[in-house]
Amino acid sequence: MAKGSKSSDSLRALTKSALAFRDEREWKQFHNFKDLAVTLSLEAAEVLEHAQWKTAAELEKYLRTHREQVGDELADVLHVLLLLAEHCGIDLAEAFEQKMKQNRLKYPVEKARGSAKKYHEL
Ligand SMILES: [Mg+2]
Repeated sequence: MAKGSKSSDSLRALTKSALAFRDEREWKQFHNFKDLAVTLSLEAAEVLEHAQWKTAAELEKYLRTHREQVGDELADVLHVLLLLAEHCGIDLAEAFEQKMKQNRLKYPVEKARGSAKKYHEL
């Protein structure tokens, strides 16, 4: 993704907001790779908590009535992901585009369309 693209700009703006929130509270001292990665995993687990003990049908119904709560958890994941990427000096939009390029090669449309198989099974 070219620098200055819309996606890159909006991720940069979100990162700026996350960093301002962190810096106003003087929390940078607590933000290292290990603790941010642990927090990312914990926040992702909070997304999963919404699915725990529900059938697929119950979950679809639940998601229609708990969109805000699930959105809060997804925002927590994004918040920590932005901090972790910034900590590592990684341009997340660029890393994402690189990964999508790899995914397109791993999962060519003509082989992967409509299939849930892993790339090595295609
Ligand atoms: Mg959370």
